[in-house]
Amino acid sequence: MQKGLKNATVIGAGIGGLSAAIALRKTGLDVTVYERNTKDHAGGTGITQPQNVFSVLKDLDIYEECLKSGVQLDYMEMLDKEGNLLFEANEKFIDKEGPGRNAIWRSTLKDVLLSKALSLGVNAEWEKNLINYKENEHNVSLSFHDETQITTDLLVSFDGIRSNVRDIMLGRTVSPQYLGMGAWRIPITFEKNALSKKGFIMKDGTTKLGVFPLTDTDGYAFILTPVPADYWDEEEKRYDTVRNMLEPFHGKGDFIKTCFTRDTPIIFSPIEEVVLKEKWYTNRVVIGGDAAHASAPTLAQGAAMALEDASVLGQEISKVSSLAQALHAYYTRRFPRANAIQSFSSEVIRNELAGNFNQAEIIAKSNSILQQAY
Ligand SMILES: Cc1cc2nc3c(=O)[nH]c(=O)nc-3n(C[C@H](O)[C@H](O)[C@H](O)COP(=O)(O)OP(=O)(O)OC[C@H]3O[C@@H](n4cnc5c(N)ncnc54)[C@H](O)[C@@H]3O)c2cc1C
Repeated sequence: MQKGLKNATVIGAGIGGLSAAIALRKTGLDVTVYERNTKDHAGGTGITQPQNVFSVLKDLDIYEECLKSGVQLDYMEMLDKEGNLLFEANEKFIDKEGPGRNAIWRSTLKDVLLSKALSLGVNAEWEKNLINYKENEHNVSLSFHDETQITTDLLVSFDGIRSNVRDIMLGRTVSPQYLGMGAWRIPITFEKNALSKKGFIMKDGTTKLGVFPLTDTDGYAFILTPVPADYWDEEEKRYDTVRNMLEPFHGKGDFIKTCFTRDTPIIFSPIEEVVLKEKWYTNRVVIGGDAAHASAPTLAQGAAMALEDASVLGQEISKVSSLAQALHAYYTRRFPRANAIQSFSSEVIRNELAGNFNQAEIIAKSNSILQQAY
């Protein structure tokens, strides 16, 4: 346990922030999480958890719960646009005997994380938007939009790709870099077990359709396709946009067309990344997750990296008695791995934009890193 460190404040109740709250609380610190949205804010559709994140889930004591609430996928099918099987990728790249990738609703994962955090005694406050902080030798003072202020021994921020804390810490506004593609995420529903327990990806030119079941009767689809940097798809147009993009897909693609309606809430987001040259910490402030290394979703590793960050931060804080050493060790352990996975993720996009869809080599390189302990 750290000398003189009694409490920590986490900004952001996303996957990274809630994981950090659990990991820090397990070190014995008093922990409060502040989230600008309401408790019920859903945000996102499904998320897949590759095998490398399983050891973090075990470290946070939520492995069983996550697997029980999700669907485990042993293989991912790669199909052409007609639905013909090109090859199957084995999802068990670390443990051949254990379950493969876990696919789960984001809201379910957040519920699992939140209830674990609360059961350990973490405090959570909603609709609290951090607007500024000031750090001195002894503590950090935080100011929120409602003019409340608090002080904390340690500020831990997992406040996402447009992180306010990161920008204050670095003294500059970091603009996420656009990678040339847009992503549509579509919640889907189907008759019980109508979709096999395998993820699949289909390609038509530079457009990619991915589908993951999340329970027996629902799941999510995503479409990635090149769009100009200033492109935005208005909510009311998204159903038609998606239907048009799905037109060339057949076989399983035809089935997906029947799994959503005009009323389905479709999410659109440009694919962006944040690559920082600076360290992720100062004396009493540290960032993690998308705030530090937002990545393209092509290897489905963004939330996995945020979970790993949280776990490593907790481990380092409990290991050494100096906060400075702990934050340095956290950064030194996390930067090379997160940075490598981030570059592989954007390389996939660059290759696809150049018409090269054979990503086996990048996946193999990325897996060889992920097979090592985090
Ligand atoms: C299309 C797509 C598909 C993806 N699929 C996968 C996948 O399958 N597997 C995977 O591992 N990753 C995936 N990712 C990446 C993953 O979504 C992110 O990496 C992950 O959500 C990052 O978590 P985070 O907690 O760091 O940030 P976020 O999830 O962005 O959470 C940040 C939180 O901080 C809050 N916040 C922000 N500012 C403030 C403030 N000033 N005050 C208070 N609260 C604040 C926000 O409201 C939010 O709740 C995908 C991403 C995309 C775009």
